[in-house]
Amino acid sequence: MQQVTLARRAYFSAGRRLWHPGWSEERNREAFGKLASPHGHDYVLDVFYGGGIDDDNGMIVNITELKPVIAQAVQQLAGRFLDCEVDYFSTRRPTVENIVNFLWSQLPQHMGTGYLTRLCLQETNRVWVNKTKDAMQVTRSYEFAAAHRLHAPQLSAEQNQELYDKCNNLYGHGHNYGLEVTVRGEPDTETGSIIPFAELDRIVEAEVFEHYDHKHLNEDCPEFTAIIPTSENLARVIFDRLQTRLQEAGYQLSKIGLHETQKNYFEVEA
Ligand SMILES: [Zn+2]
Repeated sequence: MQQVTLARRAYFSAGRRLWHPGWSEERNREAFGKLASPHGHDYVLDVFYGGGIDDDNGMIVNITELKPVIAQAVQQLAGRFLDCEVDYFSTRRPTVENIVNFLWSQLPQHMGTGYLTRLCLQETNRVWVNKTKDAMQVTRSYEFAAAHRLHAPQLSAEQNQELYDKCNNLYGHGHNYGLEVTVRGEPDTETGSIIPFAELDRIVEAEVFEHYDHKHLNEDCPEFTAIIPTSENLARVIFDRLQTRLQEAGYQLSKIGLHETQKNYFEVEA
C-alpha cells in the first residue's frame, strides 16, 4: 500500500540552562557559552505520521485524536524551566536534541494506520533537529556575503553574455548567502549535543567565513580560478571543506544547503 505522511504542528515555550552539575563553572561556560545562563525559547514542533490510508475513514490518523496526544506530550514541557521541573532533564542537558528524544518517547509509535516517522523541533530560526527511527540530524544556519562573476573563459564575450546574462557583469555582483549545515549523529551523554554549537561555529568560521565572507570569489579565492563560482560549485566546495574538517573532529556531515537568494537554493548531500 502506498504510504502517505501527515504532519501536525505544535508550539510551546520553555526555559532552561545548559549546565553540567559535575563540571566547574569555567568548564560549563567554555562548553555551553551563553547557553549556560538561564534563558528560554519558543519551540516549533512538527510531528509526522506515515502510513496507508484507511479505506473506511479516508485517513491515516484522525487529527481529532492526534491533537490531545501531542498536547499531552508538549504540556509536560510548556511554560516550565526544564532543568528543575522535568525529571527527564535531571540527568540530561535540555538541549534541542534531548528535548526531541523526550518528545519521541512520549508520543505513540503507532496511531490509526500510521507510524511516527519523524519529529522536527525548531529551537530558533537558526537551529533545528530532525529525528527519525534510525537517525538524528541537527541543522544550524549561517549567513555570509560574497561577490562573484559567472564567466566561462572558453566562450566568447557574446556567448558569456547570452549564457549568464546579468551574472556576467564585468565587475561581478554580490549575494547574502544563507548556509545550512546539517550534522548527523547521536547526542553526547555529557553535553547533550550531536556537536557543540561553539565547535561547529569555529569550524564554519575557519572553513567558510575566513575564505568567502566579504570576498570576491573569482578574484580572492584560488579554488575558483579553474572552476566557475556558480552556487552549485560554491556549495560543493563548501561541502568538501566542512566534511573534511568535521570528519577529522569525529563528526559526520549529512548535508549542506546554500541559499543564493530568497528564490535560489542548492543542496549537497553526503
Ligand atoms: Zn550571483
